[in-house]
Amino acid sequence: MSRRERIYLSVEEMPKYWYNVLADLPFQLDPPLNPQTREVLKPEELGAIFPQPLVEQEVTTERFIKIPKKVFDEYAVFRPSPLIRASNLEEYLETPAKIYYKYEGVSPTGSHKTNTSIPQAYYNMISGTKTLVTETGAGQWGTALSYAGLKFGLNIEVYMVKTSFEQKPMRKLIINFFGGKVSPSPSLNTEFGKKMLDIDRENPGSLGIAISEALEEVFKKDNAKYALGSVLNHVLLHQTIIGLEIKKQFEKINIKPDVIIGCHGGGSNLGGTILPFIPEKLSGEKIEFLACEPKSCPTLTEGEYRYDNGDTAGLTPLMMMYTLGKEFIPPKIHAGGLRYHGSAPIIAKLKHENMLNAIALDQEETFEAARIFSKLEGIIPAPESSHAIAGAIREAIKAKENKEEKVIVFTLSGHGLLDLTAYA
Ligand SMILES: *Cc1c(COP(=O)(O)O)cnc(C)c1O
Repeated sequence: MSRRERIYLSVEEMPKYWYNVLADLPFQLDPPLNPQTREVLKPEELGAIFPQPLVEQEVTTERFIKIPKKVFDEYAVFRPSPLIRASNLEEYLETPAKIYYKYEGVSPTGSHKTNTSIPQAYYNMISGTKTLVTETGAGQWGTALSYAGLKFGLNIEVYMVKTSFEQKPMRKLIINFFGGKVSPSPSLNTEFGKKMLDIDRENPGSLGIAISEALEEVFKKDNAKYALGSVLNHVLLHQTIIGLEIKKQFEKINIKPDVIIGCHGGGSNLGGTILPFIPEKLSGEKIEFLACEPKSCPTLTEGEYRYDNGDTAGLTPLMMMYTLGKEFIPPKIHAGGLRYHGSAPIIAKLKHENMLNAIALDQEETFEAARIFSKLEGIIPAPESSHAIAGAIREAIKAKENKEEKVIVFTLSGHGLLDLTAYA
């Protein structure tokens, strides 16, 4: 029998519910705090920037949340996504391990981010929002949100980190193609942006600054809300569609994964991939979770575990997380989407409780992993996703050394066809 395997699900088999890990975690998350008073944030306070249904999803402990019909139908445009065995990579590494990857690059904008942009746009639409404002680093989130805004009739305004804006003109074109507006950040549209530019004309921007600008814009406009592409509980909730599908796909071939890997920027594709396996882990099954991040932005491996803001200006709630400090401006490296100073509180807590391992990989190793993977498996990965590939390769080599027939699965969060200039 061929080692080649592609495991598909039909649209009918796509999960009808998202999985909420807050129902099962054996510990409490430290609550978000109001940035001015440092008091525990009330859900109503989140209502200023997010629509009610998303505020509820941020705090609910209900285990399964039904995917609304309209969201399900939009998911069905590109989901379920395939689970593919990287058999050429296995042969190349001469490993006894089986390596599978869940391919999220099949989405309309080429990454997993549409898994949450679609429900976020939907819940804003039913709540009367007219304009959604956001920030984007490498541009993936901006494109995903502008696509979703188009589907549900919302105006989308995007603040894009200036270095990426200049390096990735295609992303801007896609945002415009789907009808979204995009400005390089820091910009002259906001007081905070002007202040940053006064201090330094050449400020390259950061996600923290772009979030500050987006929030300022939300407070200025009527019927405007904010959207975040990672970090928050509701974002990870929507992304669980990834892990839930992986589970069903492995059930089909009667296999259980031993190691589950994702790259880590803010924690959404990693969370979406591993969280549905938390119940198994808690019941004593031997499953390892591995987060892969860049050495140049080593949030989980070198950050401090403490309360910090999500943005540079200090407008967002304080969240308990691993952080490199909200003023952190990462060096210009290719891993655009993995340059956030903080982490998702859920992911941070799992790491803190030793339920999740994290490693930091340098640019050479991830780049080499991307090169090998494209040649062997035929997909040019997003630079972010290459960190997960590099992590999987390390695990496969470990399995070879220990002569273990491990099952390794990683999420390939996106393709890199719009990142070729970064690779060059
Ligand atoms: C945004 C992005 C990431 C990083 O964000 P997470 O929230 O950590 O998932 C990773 N891969 C791709 C392709 C992205 O677009």
